[in-house]
Amino acid sequence: MRAAVLTAVNKPLEILDLEQEGPKVGEVRVEVKAAGVCMSDWHIMNGDWPLPLPMVLGHEAAGVVVELGPEVHNVRKGDHVIFSFRPHCGRCSYCSKGRTVLCSGHNDTPRWRMHDGSARVTLNGEPVNQMARIGTFSEHVVCPAEQVVKVREDLPWTHAAIIGCSVATGVGAVVRHAEVEAGASVLVIGCGGVGLNVVQGARLAGAGTIIACDLLDNKLAYAREFGATHTINAKTEDTLKRVRDLTGGFGADYAFDAIGGEATAKLAVDAIAPGGHAVLVGIPAASTTTSISPLQIVYGEKKITGTYYGSIRPTVDFGVLADLDMAKRINLDSLISRTYTFDEINEGFRLLTSGQVARGVIVF
Ligand SMILES: [Zn+2]
Ligand SMILES: [Zn+2]
Repeated sequence: MRAAVLTAVNKPLEILDLEQEGPKVGEVRVEVKAAGVCMSDWHIMNGDWPLPLPMVLGHEAAGVVVELGPEVHNVRKGDHVIFSFRPHCGRCSYCSKGRTVLCSGHNDTPRWRMHDGSARVTLNGEPVNQMARIGTFSEHVVCPAEQVVKVREDLPWTHAAIIGCSVATGVGAVVRHAEVEAGASVLVIGCGGVGLNVVQGARLAGAGTIIACDLLDNKLAYAREFGATHTINAKTEDTLKRVRDLTGGFGADYAFDAIGGEATAKLAVDAIAPGGHAVLVGIPAASTTTSISPLQIVYGEKKITGTYYGSIRPTVDFGVLADLDMAKRINLDSLISRTYTFDEINEGFRLLTSGQVARGVIVF
């Protein structure tokens, strides 16, 4: 079984032949059909998020269920599934309240091993970790069944794959987390895979003014395609001033930081109007801190919240997003600007980190 393994930080991924055990109780084996190339993988590759290696990376993917372990009830052999990178035990207080992203049911085992603490893939007899218990840069994945969700079979594989991370995170941040209302003004900071989905989430929600901001003109051109009514190149323009000019001098009703940096988080807070809502979406490096003015938060009754995975419930929202895609209410075709073979995976990360693609997807 071939999988792309990170053996050390700041090194390319290596496609290695690994041994894989079959699914145990409550687990499934999935043949991966497509997997997106995401900044979260890059954060592990460059050491932003220090995690134990070696690890099979990849967390945005879809495939076919080919084998069931005992006591699997949510999927059958042959089902088309999207992977969820968060567990969903269904029993903890967060799952019971519908906040499955915060599931606390498996906090006693590492997030890169199965629920019994053991690994399903090995290299020369030594355990290899799986990112988010899935590790989808892999011909086959054995993982907890609760981390796969059945979807309609007419959904293209590349679309199914990206629904599993960037689409869920970006669209979910708008329609599930912030619940943007029709006519609102929205600022989107960063127009990568997640930011472009925030833009199209804002269009889906009926936002009146959608302002997209990035450092690269090609990303801003993408943003206009996905529904941005105005764009700002933050390298050459005063973003704060432009946002205020476009919103009657007040600032935006909502600002989404799709990057997760010190300056971008601060900008999100500064750029919202009194009564506005700043939403932190992009996942920062573990060392990131930022300074904000508590005075403007108090006087302006500003709200700052974080959303992880778009605050979605995968078992509900993967299907919702698939239906919206098939009805052409969201645009995933234009989002997938490149596809790669599995062997081109490091080229995928090169193009991602140089800002040359909206979303690149590996097709197996
Ligand atoms: Zn991702
Ligand atoms: Zn739970």
